Amino acid sequence: MDFCPKCGTRLLVKRGERGITLFCPRCKFVKPGKESSVLSVVEKEATGESITILNTSSESLQTLPSTEADCPKCGYKEAFWWIVQTRGADESPTQFFRCKRCNYVWREYS
Ligand SMILES: [Zn+2]
Ligand SMILES: [Zn+2]
Repeated sequence: MDFCPKCGTRLLVKRGERGITLFCPRCKFVKPGKESSVLSVVEKEATGESITILNTSSESLQTLPSTEADCPKCGYKEAFWWIVQTRGADESPTQFFRCKRCNYVWREYS
């Protein structure tokens, strides 16, 4: 997990066209990130906080990866996804999807 060298705030992950960047939500410090570091960040930040970040801001949503998934509500075939580790490490992480068309959010237990 990375912290901002300027203000010490935990850096957030942004996935853009040019790859992964880490950015500070407080002072806007930005640095390039690696794909592998993102995976660990996603796992470690698998708390309610990451859900909130991903659900509330449409700007954050656009940085999410998308995949083929059938929306149970409108039948659309593409959705954003993210993974949240619930409770103990024993439990498998939960994958969430969010429909690109109707914004319906559902989860899939792996
Ligand atoms: Zn900062
Ligand atoms: Zn839908």
